[in-house]
Amino acid sequence: MARFDETSSFGAQRASIVTGSRTTLQIEDSILRMVARPVPEEMFGSETLTRLVEEMWMCMIDAGGVGIAAPQVGISWRLFIGSASSILPSTVFVNPEVEFHGEASVLGEEGCLSVPGWRSAKVLRHSKVTVRYRDMDGGSHVETYEGLAARVIQHEFDHLNGKLFIDIDDSPEVDDTLRRRAMRAMAEMEDRMKARSEADA
Ligand SMILES: [Zn+2]
Repeated sequence: MARFDETSSFGAQRASIVTGSRTTLQIEDSILRMVARPVPEEMFGSETLTRLVEEMWMCMIDAGGVGIAAPQVGISWRLFIGSASSILPSTVFVNPEVEFHGEASVLGEEGCLSVPGWRSAKVLRHSKVTVRYRDMDGGSHVETYEGLAARVIQHEFDHLNGKLFIDIDDSPEVDDTLRRRAMRAMAEMEDRMKARSEADA
């Protein structure tokens, strides 16, 4: 889930249609740290995919966000959605591939519903990305995005690879208590995952 102040009114306008949704997973959940699997070919055009995307829209709008990735609602699939008024038209990105242009050189503000209470003004992103993706019926698309739209896409795409924005945040103004809590959660989760892979071995 990406949240940005510039577009928070989007959630407020649409909140009334929300009747309920999945809850968003929090930083402690190991699904957020997994590399998600591609959406299977047989899912294109299916009721299952439609329902999942509907739930993701509700979850995102409910929280006033501008993007959400499937792992954040507990489904480890390569799928995210984004919508930010005039900046990013409402789009469902299935099995996206992102081409990054130039260096990651733009600092900007981000937050994430999976990391409550943590906002950073210093998350480094590329200014421009090209995304190849499928729509819900399997159609192929290529689009290039810049600025805030490119930031939303990079934030959500990272979720599909088990990465969170706090991994690349190095701003000194981040509240120390929050940083400690998040770091502790990440360390505990890594321990759990290590223990699990040792048990599997
Ligand atoms: Zn997020």
